[in-house]
Amino acid sequence: MTGARQTRAPAGLATPLQFLKGVGPERAKLLARKGLETVGDALFFVPIRHEDRTRFTPLRALHVGESVTCSGVIAGVSPPPPGRRRAPLALLLRDDSGYATATLFAGRHYLQRVLSRGQRLVLHGKVGRYRDKITIAVQDWELVESGEDEQLHAGRLVPVYSSTEGLPQRPLRRLMWHVIDEFAGDIAETLPETIRARRGLPPLAEAVRQAHFPATEAERERAMRRLAFDDFLLLQLGLAILRSRTTRARGISMQPRGTLVARLRETLSFSLTGAQERVWDEIRADMAAPYPMHRLLQGDVGSGKTIVAALAVCTAVEAGYQAAVMAPTEILAEQHFRTLSRLLEPLGVPVTLLRSGLKGRDAAARRAAVEAGHVGCVVGTHALVQERVAFQRLGLAVVDEQHRFGVHQRAQLKGKGERPDVLVMTATPIPRTLALTLYGDLDVSVLDELPPGRKPVRTEARTETRRAQIYKFLADQVAEGRQIYVVYPLVEESEAMDLKAATDMAAHLQRDVFPQLVVGLLHGRMSSEEKDAIMQRFKAGAVHVLVATTVIEVGIDVPNASVMLIEHAERFGLSQLHQLRGRVGRGPWKSYCILLTAGRLGEDAQRRVEAMVETNDGFKIAEVDLQLRGPGEFFGTRQSGLPEFRAADLLRDAPLLEEARRDAQAIVAVDTELRDPAHRGLRQALLTRWRGKLELASVG
Ligand code: ADP
Ligand code: MG
Repeated sequence: MTGARQTRAPAGLATPLQFLKGVGPERAKLLARKGLETVGDALFFVPIRHEDRTRFTPLRALHVGESVTCSGVIAGVSPPPPGRRRAPLALLLRDDSGYATATLFAGRHYLQRVLSRGQRLVLHGKVGRYRDKITIAVQDWELVESGEDEQLHAGRLVPVYSSTEGLPQRPLRRLMWHVIDEFAGDIAETLPETIRARRGLPPLAEAVRQAHFPATEAERERAMRRLAFDDFLLLQLGLAILRSRTTRARGISMQPRGTLVARLRETLSFSLTGAQERVWDEIRADMAAPYPMHRLLQGDVGSGKTIVAALAVCTAVEAGYQAAVMAPTEILAEQHFRTLSRLLEPLGVPVTLLRSGLKGRDAAARRAAVEAGHVGCVVGTHALVQERVAFQRLGLAVVDEQHRFGVHQRAQLKGKGERPDVLVMTATPIPRTLALTLYGDLDVSVLDELPPGRKPVRTEARTETRRAQIYKFLADQVAEGRQIYVVYPLVEESEAMDLKAATDMAAHLQRDVFPQLVVGLLHGRMSSEEKDAIMQRFKAGAVHVLVATTVIEVGIDVPNASVMLIEHAERFGLSQLHQLRGRVGRGPWKSYCILLTAGRLGEDAQRRVEAMVETNDGFKIAEVDLQLRGPGEFFGTRQSGLPEFRAADLLRDAPLLEEARRDAQAIVAVDTELRDPAHRGLRQALLTRWRGKLELASVG
């Protein structure tokens, strides 16, 4: 293997795995599928768990419900009875204590080929009953051959990696062992000595070694803590640097007399809630300050974010600037446009809508008016960030429903002005630790109070058997003057079929169930004019029952609607359900959300439905959602443009995140561009993690 050594010598951690012993092109391809291309990737490919193979559970001591790791010799293989092809393969195992059966489900033919009597097997699984016998339902297994690397696969804490078809644990583990053995020493330390000492963290090279092959559980924990700390620190450091640049940058100081704001307040038929007042104070102070505002406004659906945004728009306009409001969907943009026109036009502030579909003279005229500065407030979808759109003097950018836009689009809109103030609004309440993670570069304001008079929406879960009663209830509600939403899920694989389901449902409701009422249909394939027309009719009360696919998810405001009926509620995510529910309960009437489910619910679906029935609190919903989906998916980290974690778990490691955040802030306070030689390791790691999304001034 001298050839391989020569190739790797200059490359170090950048050495492609393919150059290593035992990794051919075939395996390299499988590894790449897991994101493993270089030695460095492999070193930081942390095991999903470790299996304690120092102590196996004796086969005679199995208890139903336990998760166990056992070791035994195969005493018999019994194929499933003929005709029952889906049945599992059953094994009879023997160890010093006695016998037990184990069942394996996947790939029976393959199993029958590779498993035979006399072989030694290590397996991990859950003890249950199968055909009245206590048996281990195997989750993963491994043949143990005696040989030189025996100590690697048995008699220790053995790493288990996230695997992929064709890439079994054994060779993967062998590769990792080899990589650690040969390259762990090349890992450069990232943390300054002072931080390591203060936080009691092991050196990075040692942590990597022990994260893969720990001698004890304590070692493993210490190692994982170190790696998680690095994840957090590098994220927080990047965010702190971005943020310090914003606060150091010279922005626009807007301090108009406040005439427009005062007049807007006068026209409102209500007074602002305490939370709205507080948040508005924070925003006004930001806008007045001579650096760019970079603030997140968090508030549950219906908490009244729009009016706060309108106040900010007034301030920008009175100060002589333009404001842009960007929404994630056409419908929502349309709605913001209407609301803002209604609020602002009477005050003499021209508002215009830029649609993505808009072409020809009209579009050109609108863009020209924006460019000439004749328009104070421009509303639109991501159409706003198109190249052709130019502002005369953009001073405020409001971005609604942030989690649908990436960091990138936010930046693009900002780029339409000279360091404008930015206000990001989101209706997804996020627990504090998580807000720090995702929005660490923003200041956060929270609208934690609903406007007075809101009654919590009553939520009920129902099955198909109650459909007739539900229809009766809907009819009663309409008789009382209310309106109804009926929502259908969209399942991506078969949009056409889903569409048909919704279309058929609307027709069926109109013809057979509510012939005396007006049933409308709204779906994603409609043009924005069509969507807008039907929404306007619904708003005006000319449509009683609106059947919709999830396009109504965000931001629709029809206070007279009192029932949200969600079909196939089991197919919706929790935050989606909560958003949908937020469409009702906006008026003074008692409102209802009915979750109609079909078939037996899976465990997660069951918990989602229960959470909905239990609480109206968006923060609680978000916590449950996070637990169910895990942080990666909850955040859509990839979409957000932030670096991904290698070892950290936001739920488990939250206290560590706070520590890392404090350290990051302390570092950036004294060394904003990481020029200090003591921060060389951090600097390098940061640039690698943020891969082109963050640049640092060069070291002088
Ligand atoms: P969000 O965008 O946060 O979901 P909206 O801004 O659409 O909420 O407000 C929801 C509804 O509440 C709107 O009809 C709005 O006019 C009304 N509203 C907002 N603030 C107040 C308030 N302080 N008192 C009474 N109603 C309010
Ligand atoms: Mg400012």
